[in-house]
Amino acid sequence: MSRTRHLLGIVLAKENWRENDQIISFYSQESGKLEILVRGARKINSKLAPLISEPFALLDLVVAQGKNYTHLIGGEVKERFKNIITEEQKIIQTNTLLKRINQLIKPQLDKKIFLLILKFLKKINQIPLNKIRIINHAFLIKFLAFSGYCPEIKICLVCHQIPQGEEIIFNLEKGGIVCLPCQQAGLKYKLDDNQNNQQIKITKQTLNVLQKFLYQDFNSLIQQNFVQKDLQVAEKVIKLFFNWHLD
Ligand SMILES: [Zn+2]
Repeated sequence: MSRTRHLLGIVLAKENWRENDQIISFYSQESGKLEILVRGARKINSKLAPLISEPFALLDLVVAQGKNYTHLIGGEVKERFKNIITEEQKIIQTNTLLKRINQLIKPQLDKKIFLLILKFLKKINQIPLNKIRIINHAFLIKFLAFSGYCPEIKICLVCHQIPQGEEIIFNLEKGGIVCLPCQQAGLKYKLDDNQNNQQIKITKQTLNVLQKFLYQDFNSLIQQNFVQKDLQVAEKVIKLFFNWHLD
């Protein structure tokens, strides 16, 4: 095996591999996303298992490049986000979210993405349970934007004006909003029948929530109270938009 190197980062997902091994998806500050083979990780006396089983932590891993795989050979925990594991809902939701972004994340390094994941975990670690929905969805829409899928939610995609009416259409395929007059005129879009499931009707208030989630930082978001109904629709739009890019 060749020289070793250090990688600072977060485990996004793990899967069992062969009889006793595991492969982890790791997002590192130095190299972006990597798949790392952990030999014998499922053996009871594995020395490496405790390290990668450490939930929600910033890890300093030592890896070596083998012929076919990057191998984990050691490392240490740099920072534990230990409040996350005190609440079951935080564990489940944070795990799910990291797995989901792992499916969409590109292998090459993006410092902004690394910092966003780190900030997200630090924030989830600090906040009460009733604020995690806000941070989860703000994280997802920011993650999409940083990944090259930033939705246009300031101006109408057709007329390039700020929408004036109470209702606006979010178009998943076009990646942003269309104001109602443009939608009704159907001017530049040839609307076909099966396009209906790509369009979500939202209110001005929901659009406002989406804008805040995308453009405001986590600290300012957790200090605000959102109307449940607006929050729910905004969450739905973000989930559908995320899934749209996943497929
Ligand atoms: Zn318009």
